[in-house]
Amino acid sequence: MRRTGHWIGALAAMAAGAFFFASTTAAELDAHFAAMNQPLAPFKIADNLYYVGANDVTSYLIVTGGGHLILLDGGFEQTAPQILANIRTLGFDPKKIRILLNSHAHFDHAGGLAALKAATGAMFLASDADAPVLAAGGANDFALKGALFPPIKADHPVLDGMLVSLGGVTLTAHITAGHTKGCTTWTMPVTIDGQPEEALFLCSLTVLPNYRLIGDPNYPNQAADFQKSFATLKGLTCNVFLASHGSFFGLLDKRARLLAGAKPNPFIDPAGCHAFFAKAEAAFDKRLAECKADPACGKTDGQP
Ligand SMILES: [Zn+2]
Repeated sequence: MRRTGHWIGALAAMAAGAFFFASTTAAELDAHFAAMNQPLAPFKIADNLYYVGANDVTSYLIVTGGGHLILLDGGFEQTAPQILANIRTLGFDPKKIRILLNSHAHFDHAGGLAALKAATGAMFLASDADAPVLAAGGANDFALKGALFPPIKADHPVLDGMLVSLGGVTLTAHITAGHTKGCTTWTMPVTIDGQPEEALFLCSLTVLPNYRLIGDPNYPNQAADFQKSFATLKGLTCNVFLASHGSFFGLLDKRARLLAGAKPNPFIDPAGCHAFFAKAEAAFDKRLAECKADPACGKTDGQP
């Protein structure tokens, strides 16, 4: 099926601040997004945790005690084949994936999920607030118009504080809404070099250019949701900082250092994690002040 539409960019870069606008199809990504979807050799982050995503849109493989697998995020629709190949490169069988999770219902993290579910038969879990957007392939997104992706229905809802356990591994869901209505940050204990650490997979804190924050009839509580999310995140342990985009946590730099033998493991970065939260909150506060002062804030249709 050929889909055309206007895709709003700048999803990844907090500092981008500019609109990106292009037409695309299901078969090809615009250059801006293709640059976030370059193949990257998979690697081990922690004892039961592997990176299987592209160079910026992330995907994480979690290996449980019984040999069954959990996969978090599916990248773009075009990322799914890379993810499956990366899993096989690491010596794992994608058909052992039992649970599929999602950070949030945007095309660059949920686009590959339908294909991954079809390839693995895994159960798909999604937050109550993002599930309708996932089921509609982004057609009913409160802000992104035309950023469509293959729809996927959740088999089970994810609620705030819910534990997802499989084979001795337990992930905890933290609804950190604002970027989407059901944006989900996951945490889980991992072991690195024999030491227990807490990993945090940040959903996203990016305020997109067309987010109104206040007074949006499609998302009246957006600003309050962001503020609650900052409070939640500041209270979480984040020793191993991971996220939906590699650019948020310095994926490529940390990976290069890790593969060069750096000790301690560069992904152990609690200071970097909390610095990122602080930077994101400052950007949100600035934008909220702008939106309070300017009723036209965010009321753009995406035209540059
Ligand atoms: Zn997003």
